[in-house]
Amino acid sequence: MLNKVKYINYTLEEEGMKIICIGRNYAEHAKEMKAAVPTEPVFFMKPDTALIKGNEPFYYPDFSKEIHHEVELVIKMSRAGKHIEPEFAHKYYEEIGIGIDFTARDIQAKCKEKGLPWEKAKSFDGSAPIGNFVNKRTFTDLNNINFLLTINGKSVQKGNTKDLLFSFDKVISYISKFVTLKTGDLIFTGTPEGVGEVKKGDVLEAFIEKESLLKFEIK
Ligand code: MG
Repeated sequence: MLNKVKYINYTLEEEGMKIICIGRNYAEHAKEMKAAVPTEPVFFMKPDTALIKGNEPFYYPDFSKEIHHEVELVIKMSRAGKHIEPEFAHKYYEEIGIGIDFTARDIQAKCKEKGLPWEKAKSFDGSAPIGNFVNKRTFTDLNNINFLLTINGKSVQKGNTKDLLFSFDKVISYISKFVTLKTGDLIFTGTPEGVGEVKKGDVLEAFIEKESLLKFEIK
C-alpha cells in the first residue's frame, strides 16, 4: 500500500553517479528469457548518459530493430557504503522510483551467443528513463509494492516486490561487496515478466501502486 505520496525533486548532480542493474531478479522473467533462475544476484552497469529525466522522449536508436521495455523499481542510494551488511542496508536508501531498463534484445541475443558482455545492448545513451522518486516511508511494506507499465494505456507488465528473488537489502549488500556504492547511485532492481517490444509513437507510463511517476513517448 502506498500512503501519502510525496514527490521528491531528485537531483542527480552528484558527480560520478552510476547505475547498477540487477538481472533476472524475478523468476517468471528469467523463465520467459529461457535463462536459469540465479542462485546469487546478477548485475551490470549503465553510464550516467543512459539517464532520461523529466519525461523527455526516448529516441529509437538506429542500431537496433528490437528495443524491449523492462519496467523496474529503482533504489536511490542516500549514503556511500562498501561491504554493507544486509541488516544495515535499509539505512543506505530513502527513496524509491521507477524506470525502464531499455534493452536492444537483438544485440543482446548476439552478445549472449558469443559469450560477450552486454554493454552494447543495455548501456546505450537513453537506455534508462527514470521517473519521480517517493520516500520509502510512504510504503507500509517494502516487500509488497505493486508496480505497473502501460503502453498506450494498456497494461503490459505488472510486478510486486514480494516476487523478488533478492530483496532490496540483499541486492545492496551483494553489490557493495564488489563496488563501492555512492550517494546518488541508482539501482534498477530487476523486471517482472511481460517484457516486449516498443515502437515509435508508443507512450509508456509507469506506476507505483496507483501513482503515475513516469510517462514519455518513443520517438
Ligand atoms: Mg532489467
